[in-house]
Amino acid sequence: MILTSEAPAASGKTQAFLQQDHQLLIDGQNVAAVSGKKIDVVDPATGQLIARVAEGDKADIDKAVTAARRAFEGGAWPKLTPSERGKLLWRLADLLEENLDEVAEIESLDNGKPRAVAAAADVPLAVDLFRYMAGWATKIEGNTIPISVPYMPDAEFHSYTLREPVGVVGQIIPWNFPLLMAAWKLGPALATGCTVVLKVAEETPLSALRLGQLIQEAGFPNGVVNIITGYGETAGAALAAHGDVDKCAFTGSTEVGKLIVKAASESNLKKITLELGGKSPNIILPDADLELAIPGAANAIFFNHGQCCCAGSRLFVHRDQFEKVAEGVAELAKQIKIGAGMNPETEMGPMVSQIQQDRVCGYLESGLSDGATALCGGQKTGENGYFVEPTVLVNTRPEMKIIQEEIFGPVVTAVSYDDTDQLIASANDSPYGLAAAVWTRDISLGHKIAKKMRAGTVWVNCYNVFDASLPFGGYKQSGWGREMGHEALNLYTETKAITIQL
Ligand code: NAP
Ligand code: MG
Repeated sequence: MILTSEAPAASGKTQAFLQQDHQLLIDGQNVAAVSGKKIDVVDPATGQLIARVAEGDKADIDKAVTAARRAFEGGAWPKLTPSERGKLLWRLADLLEENLDEVAEIESLDNGKPRAVAAAADVPLAVDLFRYMAGWATKIEGNTIPISVPYMPDAEFHSYTLREPVGVVGQIIPWNFPLLMAAWKLGPALATGCTVVLKVAEETPLSALRLGQLIQEAGFPNGVVNIITGYGETAGAALAAHGDVDKCAFTGSTEVGKLIVKAASESNLKKITLELGGKSPNIILPDADLELAIPGAANAIFFNHGQCCCAGSRLFVHRDQFEKVAEGVAELAKQIKIGAGMNPETEMGPMVSQIQQDRVCGYLESGLSDGATALCGGQKTGENGYFVEPTVLVNTRPEMKIIQEEIFGPVVTAVSYDDTDQLIASANDSPYGLAAAVWTRDISLGHKIAKKMRAGTVWVNCYNVFDASLPFGGYKQSGWGREMGHEALNLYTETKAITIQL
């Protein structure tokens, strides 16, 4: 692990954006929070202030929901044809692509991730998602259904279903992939004709605000997308509890996911979709190609500094290869260049915030004091910023907190196993079920294990492969529903059955 040097300054375009007066986007207008309050936004690589954004709360959520309701029920949006909605989404994708470098810089400065990763993954995946959903806008179809109605033997009917937008959607997103999470949420909502109030994470509001500018530039009617920066306990909670919001889509911790369900059940029983935490098993079988599996296991946990809901945080290796693999992953971890995301040499940036750094270090202390051993890493690092060393922990026991709970940092626990049945049971022994992976040359066995995994995504001989067309979401306490793919569209539509007596 080498600390890279000072980062170069952001481009003039990015600096000009940072210096803007960042307000809320409500009804197509940039407006200050009703309270007039602001939130400081810091670069997690330095702890320095880079921008200030409006602190929206309940009063602003009320205004945004009113605007979204008005846009859903009247004006230009419901009059647009599916083809016109698709064109708007495609135009948004084009604009995002044209501004890729600037948005990648904003994401890097705000979240800490390497600029090159944001430019190669986060922004292109968001562009692709909008294009994928643009195509769906014209393909949201019902069915014609032959019916029998036994108690009306002489009657004839024509029955069909319509898929209609669910309505005003509240969306709450986290800080680990700020732009991409906004795209995953907005894409299906806009393709189906919903209107949105998006509450972005307090730590990383900037790329969504830039996206909001591009949404207005693309020509979406006012009020279709409203963006609120603010805290979860105030703005987020008000959105989840709002009586005039038809659906709430949330990504974040399981703990807050449960609060969202409670808020919905105590208000208007709005529909809920949840994408929550994970503690994903990454399994290396004895016949695996270790040349692939060792770097694969390192990527599974260290990508995005381990701040991935699907991070491969529990590594299972057969006893015969355990030492070789655990040490191989630790060797790779030691070589990772840690530094500011804006430095082109950086491979791993800081944790998103001091709070997240403290949380991850708390888990490291707990694991080490419970008797685990660090093959590498094990503590925070760097003079400024919220850096944590990539860490491989061994000598763990199943009841340890580091095995049970989501750490959400660059920390993997490596555990050995002897037989496959025991392995499957241990891999599934988690309240979470977001992702899993298996590395093997025996593809038949790979399929069999994939079927046995209680997880929404299983990768075989790869990890962290995402695509706009692949549904993503969790079993068990990792969530409700799926994002991306055509499955996401069902969760943004209601089915209406219409029957006509002929
Ligand atoms: P979090 O608290 O669940 O935050 C996610 C989003 O929910 C943020 O926009 C947050 O607002 C908002 N929020 C917080 N409390 C809320 C409430 N009572 N009602 C409505 N919205 C609320 O996650 P975090 O604190 O940022 O991170 C904590 C842990 O969550 C992490 O360590 C990790 O385990 C997990 N996590 C999972 C994912 C994932 O992709 N599945 C992503 C991030 C975090 P603020 O702006 O105030 O934070
Ligand atoms: Mg938070």
